[in-house]
Amino acid sequence: LMDIKSELAHHKIKIGNIILGEAPFIIAGHCTIDPKNPNLFIESAHAMKEAGAAAIRGGVWKPRTMPYAFQGDDASMKILIEAKEQTGLPVDTEVMDEHQLSIAVEAGVDILQIGARNALNYSLLKKVGQETADKQIAVLLKRSMGMGPVNEFIAASEYIAAGGNPDVMLCPRGTSPTMDGYRNYPDECITPLLKEKTWAPVIVDPSHSVGRAKYVPSAAMAAMAYGADGVIVESHCDPKKGIGDDPKQAITPDVLKKLIQDIHQIWEI
Ligand code: PEP
Ligand code: MN
Repeated sequence: LMDIKSELAHHKIKIGNIILGEAPFIIAGHCTIDPKNPNLFIESAHAMKEAGAAAIRGGVWKPRTMPYAFQGDDASMKILIEAKEQTGLPVDTEVMDEHQLSIAVEAGVDILQIGARNALNYSLLKKVGQETADKQIAVLLKRSMGMGPVNEFIAASEYIAAGGNPDVMLCPRGTSPTMDGYRNYPDECITPLLKEKTWAPVIVDPSHSVGRAKYVPSAAMAAMAYGADGVIVESHCDPKKGIGDDPKQAITPDVLKKLIQDIHQIWEI
C-alpha cells in the first residue's frame, strides 16, 4: 500500500522561477483566448508580467454550460505558446480530455488545469498523472462544485500523484449551492484544512468563486489571509472585449498590479 502523503510530505514544486510556498504564486490572464484577436491575448500577457504575475492563464478549450456557446479552438494554443515565448513566463490552460492533454503536453504548456467539471473524472486524472510525469509540467486541480472540502478533494489530487506526477496544486474555486450575489459559494476558508493534510500547495481561484470583478481583490486577499500559496485570477487588458467569463470577471492589469502588491505585503506578515 502506498503512503503518498508521507512520502511527499517535503516535496517542493518549482514552476518558472518560483518554489511554491517560498513566494506567492500568482497566475493571471484571460478566462478564454479569443482566436480571432490574438493580439489582445499577447497584450494582456505582457500586462500580466508587468503587474507582477508569475504565470499566465489562457483558456484554449472551454467547458461551457450551453452547447451553443463558444467552446474554444485548437488555434488558440499557438497564441498561448507565443505569449509564453514573448514573456518567458510559464503558461496555464485547461484540458478536458486525453486528446487535449496530448496537444497541450506536446505544445509545451507548463501548468495543466483540470476544471471543476472534471475533478472527479478519475480516468482523466490518472492519465494526466502518467502523461505529465517527469516532464516539468504541474497540474492545477480545481475543486468540483459539490466535492467534499477535504478528503474527496485531496484523494482526487492523489490520483494524479499516484499516476506519476506529484506536482499538483489544489484550487478551491467556490462551490454550490451559490451564495446570493456571488457566482458560487466562496470556499477559500478550506485552505488551512487542506494544508494540514497534504503536501500539495493551495492556489485559490477568487474569480470563479465570487464571479464579479469588483469583489475579486478582497476574495483574493481573504485567500492569502487563510494561508493560500497563491491565487489564479482572471485578468484582461480590456475586459469588455473579452469572451467567456472575462467581461464579468476579469480585473484590469492596474487592479491586478495593486492586488499583487497587497499580496506581497500580507505574505510578509
Ligand atoms: C476557468 O478557469 O475558466 C474555469 C472554467 O474554471 P472552473 O473549472 O473552476 O469552472
Ligand atoms: Mn473562466
